Amino acid sequence: GDFSDLHLDERLLQTIDSLGWKKPSLIQSAAIPLVLQGKDVLAKSRTGSGKTAAYSLPAIQIILNNKVKVGNARSTHTSVLILVPTRDLCEQVHSHFEDMITNLRKDITVASIGHEITLDEQKAILKEYPDVIISTPGRIAEHIQKKNTNLNNLSLLIIDEADLILSHGYENEMKEIATSLPRICQSLLFSATLDESTEMLKKLVLRTPVILQM
Ligand code: AMP
Repeated sequence: GDFSDLHLDERLLQTIDSLGWKKPSLIQSAAIPLVLQGKDVLAKSRTGSGKTAAYSLPAIQIILNNKVKVGNARSTHTSVLILVPTRDLCEQVHSHFEDMITNLRKDITVASIGHEITLDEQKAILKEYPDVIISTPGRIAEHIQKKNTNLNNLSLLIIDEADLILSHGYENEMKEIATSLPRICQSLLFSATLDESTEMLKKLVLRTPVILQM
């Protein structure tokens, strides 16, 4: 396949082109159409497989599609939440998203709340309702509890490195987050291995997922 077959916005295709990416990776070819069809996906894929763009590209596309529906209004809610087990990964995923929205800065806002800033500063970021939030489960659960944000209008939940979420001690926070999700919320799990942690999260957030093993 080709990136141009994936129903992605022209501005995303330009960004991909300027990064020098010639072809979608296996996980990207498999996952992007499924995510755009609204399916829940459980993807077993390693770092290096291109897994980050396998979820960032359709996530950005879904936000763009939603904005067309509401006349490109300024967002009054967060559409996509990405949960990762560590602050480091928060920053990596954030930086990846910033790269991917290079040509979309007028339309899409991305924020991470994993880094070393105060809770008040994080609260201020959340109040702006970025379209995409990247967080650890602990941080976002705390802000939900304090009513600094809510997930009422979330369209898409993505958990990356799902196999490491339990070992970082986030089981209770994940359960809290799950109870805050809207009744209908598309969810994706990305995991290097399908272990106990992935299985727990699958039961918690996925509905009849398509399983991809790359
Ligand atoms: P990831 O598995 O998401 O950590 O990505 C591994 C590396 O592959 C990153 O440096 C990406 O920038 C790069 N990458 C992702 N998708 C592609 C692609 N389709 N073609 C070339 N490089 C890519």
